[in-house]
Amino acid sequence: MFCPECGSLSYPDSKGWIKCPDYKCGYEGPLSGTDGKGSEFTDPMTGETIDLSKTRATTDSKSLKHLTEVVEEEGPRGTLRVGDYICPKCDGNRTFVELRQTRSSDEPETKICTCETCGHRWREYQ
Ligand SMILES: [Zn+2]
Ligand SMILES: [Zn+2]
Repeated sequence: MFCPECGSLSYPDSKGWIKCPDYKCGYEGPLSGTDGKGSEFTDPMTGETIDLSKTRATTDSKSLKHLTEVVEEEGPRGTLRVGDYICPKCDGNRTFVELRQTRSSDEPETKICTCETCGHRWREYQ
């Protein structure tokens, strides 16, 4: 975290307060500054302005989950169809089918199929 007064890198204590390591500044207090000012800081890597007070409130593991796109859903999803699809892995014909809209509208809808028998998942393109 950064000192709201001078921007030096410093670490908050258990109360979330920081002690500025810069002796010329000597700031000691809440991360967002005593008057709430200075909680914004510009990321040197991206040039983005980040409100640190908001960032702190939202950085629990739940809100970060949507950022990791590789989260695999668990369990079968969609409607059970019997005989319409054949599992490429076990040749079972009981399949859960879930329609999924792709991000760009010019791509066709995708069907996510989940085999009820072995749990194998695959995609069917229309
Ligand atoms: Zn400082
Ligand atoms: Zn199967």
